[in-house]
Amino acid sequence: MHATERSRSAVVEDLRAALGAEQVVDDADRLARLAADRSGTVQGAATALVLPRSTAEVQEIVRIADRHAAPIVAQGARTSLAGAASAVAGAILVDFGGMNRILRIDPLERLAVVEPGVLVSELAAAAERAGLFYAPDPVSAEWATIGGTIATNAGGMRCIKYGVTRDSVRSLEVVLADGSVVRTRRDTIKSVTGLDLTSLVVGSEGTLGLVTEATVTLRSAPGPSRGVSALFPRIDDALEAAAAVATEAAPPAVLEMLDDVALTAIRAHDPTIEAPASARAWLLAVTDARVGAEEELDAFERIFSEHRALRVDRADDPQRLDRLFATRRALNPALDAYTGGALHGDIAVPRGRLGAFAARAADISRSFGVIVSVGGHVGDGNLHPVVAYDPDDAEQARLAREAQRALLSAAQELGGTVSGEHGVGTEKLHALDGELSPRVRELQLAVKRAFDPKGILNPGRKL
Ligand SMILES: Cc1cc2nc3c(=O)[nH]c(=O)nc-3n(C[C@H](O)[C@H](O)[C@H](O)COP(=O)(O)OP(=O)(O)OC[C@H]3O[C@@H](n4cnc5c(N)ncnc54)[C@H](O)[C@@H]3O)c2cc1C
Repeated sequence: MHATERSRSAVVEDLRAALGAEQVVDDADRLARLAADRSGTVQGAATALVLPRSTAEVQEIVRIADRHAAPIVAQGARTSLAGAASAVAGAILVDFGGMNRILRIDPLERLAVVEPGVLVSELAAAAERAGLFYAPDPVSAEWATIGGTIATNAGGMRCIKYGVTRDSVRSLEVVLADGSVVRTRRDTIKSVTGLDLTSLVVGSEGTLGLVTEATVTLRSAPGPSRGVSALFPRIDDALEAAAAVATEAAPPAVLEMLDDVALTAIRAHDPTIEAPASARAWLLAVTDARVGAEEELDAFERIFSEHRALRVDRADDPQRLDRLFATRRALNPALDAYTGGALHGDIAVPRGRLGAFAARAADISRSFGVIVSVGGHVGDGNLHPVVAYDPDDAEQARLAREAQRALLSAAQELGGTVSGEHGVGTEKLHALDGELSPRVRELQLAVKRAFDPKGILNPGRKL
């Protein structure tokens, strides 16, 4: 037996002894099926996949990995678009799907204590049953886990009002790289004692520790959602209207945009979804205010009209609003289907630079000869530029990749970032130097070494 194979089977033997055979998968075909996240990229064959049921079992797994210097990759639902949850060579994949209990919902403290494998949609539903509200709402909420969304600091459509996942995380139980377990802070609403390790672990993509329990903030239930959509003759009109909503009106719960490329792709993809043909841009502003919603809707309508909207449409009832959300949610599937291949981005720029980014995207589309769509969370300055291409045309696929890199550089040159919500994973490592100074990168690597001196936690990702 080859030395690598010997050490792999020693890892599997130790895992089986610690957890029992039924919680350890080492069948090569099954492992291959579980190796990739939604980025589709994999960095090597895993040694095993383990299914822990408790923090103590996670500690055992990490101690074994530490002893064998085996890499560990945590997996929630593998919906990462950044290659952050895919296998690396020799990895122990830790699937948190079995740690999926909601342990406590506390209306007085406004919190929930949950295991990492709970789905975002399950926690949101449980909070709602208790008359409360879990704000983070990634489009992947039906599949994504609390652990995965914490580890990526996921965003969504409601961030303009409620912030990103980090803004709803109070404290974490984390298993560190040596197998010890820590609680990052007390669960009080306020705490400024010590450094804020919770914030450091949130968004760390499994590189600093494994989250085995999370205390998250629940809010008062919002009012019913109602919205206003509008069509604009130019993308700049829509962006100026969005800026006016962000500065003049009370913060909307949602402020989203689609461009004409997205609207065309949506019409082609599903004619039952509303995507008007007559405009260059579409905006949706939503309020969930319990008091003053009518005034907010009036303000959205007024601002849209003042910015040359071709048509303004008020969605007072839930069915009408659902139809507008269906239009927005069709963005990614429609562009995936448009030409058969699509590269998705998640850049963010200062809101005042959105117009400049849209202009750069149009230039990039022309100079590379590829289709580029810019739409997304304009309220946060966070766009999802998508490069659509024909995957059977190798030259077009190459140009699409180059165009995507140019879009990332454009965001950085405009004072923005290559990732507003999906994370770095392996997919955006090449872009880190474009926005983090050498000193900042050094500091981040020093933090990584302090947490994980042997570099076993999700190596080659994030940093
Ligand atoms: C259709 C679709 C829509 C999407 N919409 C959004 C969106 O609106 N907003 C957004 O931000 N993202 C979105 N995403 C991306 C993705 O859903 C998020 O990144 C999500 O947070 C990943 O959750 P997950 O449970 O699938 O985690 P995974 O993909 O399994 O893992 C993501 C990262 O978290 C780490 N991790 C997982 N569990 C733990 C744990 N317990 N402890 C430590 N590290 C852990 C993994 O190692 C990896 O680095 C979307 C993806 C798809 C496919």
